[in-house]
This record gives sequence, structure tokens and C-alpha cells, in this order.
Amino acid sequence: MNTASLPDKTGHYGKFGGMFVPETLMTPLLDLEKAYEEARQDPAFQAELSDLLTNFCGRATPLYYAERLTEKLGGAKIYFKREDLLHTGAHKINNAIGQILLAKRLGKKRIIAETGAGQHGVATATVCARFGMECRVYMGAVDMERQALNVARMRLMGAEVVGVTAGQATLKEAVNEAMRDWVATVEDTHYILGSALGAHPFPMMVRDFHRVIGVEARQQILEKEGRLPDLLIACVGGGSNAIGLFHPFLEDEDVQMVGVEAGGDGIIPERHAARFQGGKLGVLQGTKTWLLANDDGQIELTHSVSAGLDYAAVGPEHAYLQDIGRADYAYATDEEALNAFREISRTEGILPALETSHAMAHVLKVAGDMPKDSIIIANMSGRGDKDVEQAAKYLLND
Ligand SMILES: *Cc1c(COP(=O)(O)O)cnc(C)c1O
Repeated sequence: MNTASLPDKTGHYGKFGGMFVPETLMTPLLDLEKAYEEARQDPAFQAELSDLLTNFCGRATPLYYAERLTEKLGGAKIYFKREDLLHTGAHKINNAIGQILLAKRLGKKRIIAETGAGQHGVATATVCARFGMECRVYMGAVDMERQALNVARMRLMGAEVVGVTAGQATLKEAVNEAMRDWVATVEDTHYILGSALGAHPFPMMVRDFHRVIGVEARQQILEKEGRLPDLLIACVGGGSNAIGLFHPFLEDEDVQMVGVEAGGDGIIPERHAARFQGGKLGVLQGTKTWLLANDDGQIELTHSVSAGLDYAAVGPEHAYLQDIGRADYAYATDEEALNAFREISRTEGILPALETSHAMAHVLKVAGDMPKDSIIIANMSGRGDKDVEQAAKYLLND
């Protein structure tokens, strides 16, 4: 089996993935899959998507040589794929713009979404304003407090932001509310899911809309260096920015890839979100994958300094890539991520998002030990403006 050709017809990546949803959502999901397959092959759809990615979102993003960081670490040549320069400040808009075009094609009038840190909510509110669609975003009440600026951005663009107070009042509960809404409104509503997660076809669709990251990076590194990189590094929440970078390189056997999860306070139950560190195989919110659960199968609390990585399940395609040994998964703790935030800010003049800082922490760990003629591409998935208050509180006091 060619790794790049998955999922199979039932939406599986090996034993992971699938469609674990209530009866009422089966037909809408199959309709969505069919519409997506048609859209993907329709030159008019691709032309509109490409035009919006260029002129509305700001693609292609640069592949930037981090010269000072490279010199300081003294090993591999380090490049950043600059998704932080996209409209709204992160890779999320690649997916939001693709899915709203699909919603329009399906004749939907209303959009719902879930959001953690608020970056996906902002991307969704943005594309809804652009296309004149009604928009409701579900967000955990705790996250609304942590990310008040993003709540204001969404409301300014006309979205309704609904606070969710159940459970831990973070991302998982927001997804539950969005699913509940969708079951009742699927006739006229499209659910723009924000990561490579959930029931098929979402993990495939979200991946495909982010593949542009890896497609561009591949071409750019060939132009700059005349060869492929040795190592790709990206942070993994649900896994959308990572799979977008990794996927176009899957068939290049000499290119290694590492996804970096949130290690929180260390690998202690309920104090991290690193699903590959002691997670269990199970089903959460539509898909079968590695997740953090106790011995009774109850989903465990998670923790990360970055709201965007703070989720109990990982995207099913990452579970598969780990299973077959094609990609490796590491983690960075809160402290390591915050230190990387400061290091990248001072050395390169770029404030990375706290999510992204986890990938950067891994760069700091490995680059110095790699040969000088080796090449790393790290995904700068988003900018850190939203995290300045949190980072400053921690970093400017010591
Ligand atoms: C949301 C977010 C992430 C995590 O989501 P993935 O689906 O794993 O990419 C990472 N970085 C940034 C900047 C984000 O906004």
C-alpha cells in the first residue's frame, strides 16, 4: 500500500480513522465525501480556491532560512515555512477557505465551527464574512477567557460566539456542542471542522486543503538547495499543519519527519496532551485513534500552555504514520515551549505561536547534533501575537 494514497474507501488509515457518528450524520457525511471528490476534480473549483489562497490569504508563504539560529546551534541548516504570515496569522485559513467553497457548492446557508485557542474560529468567521454566510462558533468558556482577543475578532466579523460550560469547558466540549448542533441542522448547515480529526471525510479533506504547505516547501527547498530536506518538524494538536507539511514528502524515503505533541508539566496523567506517550486506542468524536483515557476508557483531562494543542485525541493519519514507523512523535513541555518562544523571538525576530513553539523546542534539541550539511524544515504554523500576554507574564519575570 502506497502511504500517500490513504484513506481507503471506508475512510481508514490502517486500523485508524473511520466514521463513528450517529445515524443521522451518515448520509450527510457520505454526501459531503461525494461533493468533495467532485470538487477536487473540478478545474473551476480549483481555480477559485487557488485565486483566494493567493489574493485573500497571501500564499505562497516564504521558505525562510533562519541564518542566526543555524549559526548559534552549529548543526543543520534550519528553514522555517512561514505559515505565520498568512491572513489571520496561522495555517488554519487554508482549510477554512477550502471548506467554505465546498459549503457554497453544497448550497449550505449556515456555518458552524468549534475552536480552542480561537484561531480556527477566527479563520472561520473570516471566510464567513467574505462569503456572506451566517456563522456560529462554539468555544469553551475557559478558552473564551484565555483568548478574549480572538473572541472579539470573531464578533467584529459578525460571528456569534457561543460559550460552552460543560466538563472542562475547553475544546472537547466545544466539539460536542458543534456536533449536537449539526445533527439538528445538517439540512442547511455545514460544519467547518478545524483539524485533521473527526469522522471521514474530514481528516482527508482537511489534510488535502493543507497539503499546499508541503507542496510549496518541497518546490522551494529544491530551488534553494537543489535537494530534499533531511528532517521535517511540526507541532501536533489534531495534526493539520503537520500532515499538510508531511504528506507531499511521504514517498521520499530519506526525508524523516517528527511531530511534536504538548508535554505540559511532564508525562503525568491529566497534566499533558501527548497522546503517543501512554495513550490508548479508542474512539473519540467520530474517529478511531490514540487518545488519553483512564483504565475505564473515560477520556482524561489534558493540559498544555497552548490551547491549540490541548486535546485528548490525535488525527488518525498520524496514528497510522507512527504505527508503520514512517513518522516519529516527540513532545515538548510547557517550559521548553516557552523557552523556545523567547529564543526564536530574540534570535530571528519572529514571535512564534505557543503551539508552534513546541516544534521550535524540538528544533533547539536536535539541530546542533546534526551534520552541518543537513537540512531541517520546521513549520512556523502561526504567529505569537495572541500569546504575548501569557508569554510575557512567564518570561519577563525571570
Ligand atoms: C490550531 C493550531 C495548531 C494545532 O492544530 P493542528 O491541527 O495540529 O495543526 C498549531 N499551530 C497553530 C498556530 C494553531 O493555530
